[in-house]
Amino acid sequence: MSISTRTPRNLCPQQLAKKLAQAAATQTLPKVLVVVHMAGASAPMAEIAALAKRYQVAIIEDASHAMGTSYQEASVGGCQYSDISVFSFHPVKVVTAGEAGVATTQHATLAKALRLLRSHGITRDAEDSHAALPPWGYEQHALGMNYRLSDIHAALGRSQLTQLRSFIARRFALAERYHQALADLPVKRPILDPESAWHLYLIELEHADIRRAVFEAMRAQGIGVNVHYIPVHTQPYYQAQGFQPGDFPLAEQYYAGALTLPLYPDLTEQQQDTVIAALQKAIEERSQ
Ligand SMILES: *Cc1c(COP(=O)(O)O)cnc(C)c1O
Repeated sequence: MSISTRTPRNLCPQQLAKKLAQAAATQTLPKVLVVVHMAGASAPMAEIAALAKRYQVAIIEDASHAMGTSYQEASVGGCQYSDISVFSFHPVKVVTAGEAGVATTQHATLAKALRLLRSHGITRDAEDSHAALPPWGYEQHALGMNYRLSDIHAALGRSQLTQLRSFIARRFALAERYHQALADLPVKRPILDPESAWHLYLIELEHADIRRAVFEAMRAQGIGVNVHYIPVHTQPYYQAQGFQPGDFPLAEQYYAGALTLPLYPDLTEQQQDTVIAALQKAIEERSQ
């Protein structure tokens, strides 16, 4: 039997409301909230934005999984409920430029700041300059970096973008097949969100021991299962900042059983059936 299908894995507005109320009481409110659209399904941005507004916290959407996702029938990246959205063009993402990414915003001042930081903090714009510029002139206004997408990467990215819709349609068709095929297995399946870009197909097994056994059995057969992600607050960097295991119990509970099944446009239905059969067998063997 399927355990449940209610597994959005995104930031929970109710839990966020509690955290923000606590932070306000101790005067530790963050300046910015970074909201990930996990696996490509949009987080509930309207609710999150209402909370952020109440506490005057800015929002950055980490839309790395959500190129082509929509929310309330508008494309993620339009920033209706956020200040900035960021996308990744890393090779594993829905579309790739080989590396790099883009940031989108509706705020002219933020767009200007982003352009400045992208190119060493340097401007050649006469209007922005403190003094009249010679023909070769520029001014440095900030300590920026080289965050520019190269022409070669951009060419690959543009060609990939033309395939965005067909990539997502294929991913959704495969997600629907998983959804049907896993209905009778003891796993949690993701909500079959038709607006998601379906960057990842994430399931949850009943507990950590089964997850490990299934992971190892499937990898041994050459099936590229994975685990997304180890909760960030349990990493040494964040532990050193004072975070502790137990701080985000729902993320930890999800992680304990989490398993990512192969999902990419070139996956054939036959290959997918092999994955499903291997998963079923591994669960049965472990449960006996
Ligand atoms: C891939 C990814 C990133 C990092 O993207 P880069 O292009 O490697 O900087 C950040 N957040 C999420 C959720 C991602 O999936």
